Amino acid sequence: MTERTLIVIKHDGVARGLMGEIIKRFERVGLKLVAMEFLKSTRDMGDSHYPHTKKWLQKVGERTLKEYLDKDLDPVKELGTMDPIKIGQLVKGWLIDYLSAGPVLAMVWEGPNAVHVCRKLVGDTIPANAVVGSIRGDYGIDSAELANSQQRPIYNIIHASGELAEAKEEIALWFKNREVFDYNVYSGDFSGVSGKLK
Ligand code: GDP
Ligand code: MG
Repeated sequence: MTERTLIVIKHDGVARGLMGEIIKRFERVGLKLVAMEFLKSTRDMGDSHYPHTKKWLQKVGERTLKEYLDKDLDPVKELGTMDPIKIGQLVKGWLIDYLSAGPVLAMVWEGPNAVHVCRKLVGDTIPANAVVGSIRGDYGIDSAELANSQQRPIYNIIHASGELAEAKEEIALWFKNREVFDYNVYSGDFSGVSGKLK
């Protein structure tokens, strides 16, 4: 009935002092925090964390390629290739560098439809497209164009698992040998409560 999802406040979110603000947003919607760790990712972990699938590399590569073509920039001159998969691999390299550059806050949140609910709270990958009220929409300003020109990932504050299968893999990776808790929270059920008002 419930799902668990991985949330990582990336180093830009940590450095900007947004951890408390972000945690508050997940708590107030009713999600339950079941694990948390402040840590610096290794390059190996970053490599395992970002997908290896052709589909993901293609998606990220095509997005980057489109940015270059829209701005009349020559991808071959700037990135050495026109191949979306190879460009996706390049972006993945930037992501691994960034994820291991400073401490990040990794968390597991639990609740009904937790994966989808967290993505909704987080907002679109590109801050300019993220709606007001979402974390990236309220606190993000970076653009793909600027990030690509500096050969680094878009600074968008936070990572949230994209789908349930991804969440399961990511939790197993980030919380391997770390505690994930089970505990009860207020459920809205007063049936066990006795006593009368005087
Ligand atoms: P997410 O699930 O919304 O975080 O997005 P993706 O899984 O598609 O991409 C992972 C991360 O890669 C994003 O959060 C960005 O930080 C970065 N990224 C995605 N697309 C691009 C891009 O076109 N250019 C650059 N520089 N970074 C990107
Ligand atoms: Mg993703």
